[in-house]
Amino acid sequence: MFLSKSDYMTAYNCVKALWLKKNRKDLIPNINEAQQTSFDIGNEVQELARQYFDNGIIVNAEPWDVINGVILTKKLAENHTILYEAFAQLPWGAFCRIDILKKNGNGWDLVEIKSSNDLKDEHIIDLAFQSYVFTNAGYNIKDCYVLHLNKDYKRGKTIDVKQLFKLEKVTKEVIGKYNEVEELAPRFYDIQQTSTEPQVDLCKNCVDCPFFHYCGKDIPKYSIFDVLKNPTADMVYKRRGSAEIKEDIIEYCNDKNIIDVQCYLQNTIHIDKKEITAFLNSLEYPLYYLDYESIMPAIPLFENSGTYNQIPFQFSLHIQKSKGGKLKHISFLHKEKTDPRRFLAEALVETCGKKGSIIVYNDNFEKTRNRELAELFTDLSESLLEINSRIIDLLIPFRQRALYSPKQHSSASIKYVLPAFCDLSYTEMEIANGSQAMDRYLAFLTGTLSDEEEKILFKGLEDYCYQDTYAMVKLIDVLYEKSKEETN
Ligand code: SF4
Repeated sequence: MFLSKSDYMTAYNCVKALWLKKNRKDLIPNINEAQQTSFDIGNEVQELARQYFDNGIIVNAEPWDVINGVILTKKLAENHTILYEAFAQLPWGAFCRIDILKKNGNGWDLVEIKSSNDLKDEHIIDLAFQSYVFTNAGYNIKDCYVLHLNKDYKRGKTIDVKQLFKLEKVTKEVIGKYNEVEELAPRFYDIQQTSTEPQVDLCKNCVDCPFFHYCGKDIPKYSIFDVLKNPTADMVYKRRGSAEIKEDIIEYCNDKNIIDVQCYLQNTIHIDKKEITAFLNSLEYPLYYLDYESIMPAIPLFENSGTYNQIPFQFSLHIQKSKGGKLKHISFLHKEKTDPRRFLAEALVETCGKKGSIIVYNDNFEKTRNRELAELFTDLSESLLEINSRIIDLLIPFRQRALYSPKQHSSASIKYVLPAFCDLSYTEMEIANGSQAMDRYLAFLTGTLSDEEEKILFKGLEDYCYQDTYAMVKLIDVLYEKSKEETN
């Protein structure tokens, strides 16, 4: 059995996760769309980052063919100064593949490429393991670097690779972790080989683990992990050995969570008529219900955009002149493979009128996009900022628990709020969430869709974005309805 860098990182977070990964492959979930996207981003960044250290040679061995990879690395290291994807292995099974192995005098530097915008602690742990393996495999490692994306970079007509990336020297930090790797790596190797599953206490962080469906099978769908923050959630779970929501957690709850717990235990809906009425009174007709969809490419696709910048490409707008009045729908979707921002900003200014509240769900997103557009297109700046001044956030009454249903499971996200009060649903839709919209539109922009697939995508995007604004119309109706009901 091997201990790869990814095994080491898995065990660093939880040794049971490593054991399950190696001994219960049947429990490993299939890769989902979001994980695939993250792999694709990693590969794309990796390819481009090699241009930062050009004239290197790739160690052309299959990732699982470690023995050949090690032999080939040693051979290539005799005549080359930059190797991509170089292998090293220790006799007892630890191995890794460094993104860039670069000659430095009589030794070598290790460079790990990361698709994030910043240096993270986990990058140091990752490099410490690689430095440990390469050093013990006989390489004289001089310095260690992380090459990550540069969040301050703005793209010109073409990509400037030297500016797109930021090279950070982390030799000192890696050395600081060296003793830890020496101790942990052989221990992790032994744990994965034992026949007994390690016992590890569940905690709130487990909710995000791919093995939670197994370890957390006795945890209720709505549990203390949804209500309480850490470290309280872990402390309570440890003390009672159960994640069930009961009266006893109220002492740890804030005002909002007390409402959540009481509604759950009594199976009732909480209505604060006064708060709802105050919110509704702040609305000024005509109402404009607005929602954006955007992409967030790791490598900037358009001039004047940076790494992971949000680029809005679509909006849906429902307009209602009077309370309960007829709806008019306007849809904008940029169907060209060009920068959508100017087209979107012009369409928005043209359709949002001059007066009336603009209702969005979670205003930070739309307001920030409008400010960015205003900075970019100074001639539209005044109109875009004026739109921002009319924005009202429909999230607020739900986040403040002016209206709360136990079906929300302590969440104010529209994906939870909507089914709690309306019969509208996102299931069965061609595009069912924002990240799907993002991924598929990016696929369109990069030209990987057929004409037929493009047609299906555009229809799916228009249906999805329409639903987002129509959902807000329905929620305003719900608020009017509930404002007439008794306060409990
Ligand atoms: S769910 Fe928790 S205990 Fe189980 S493998 Fe994952 S992190 Fe470890």
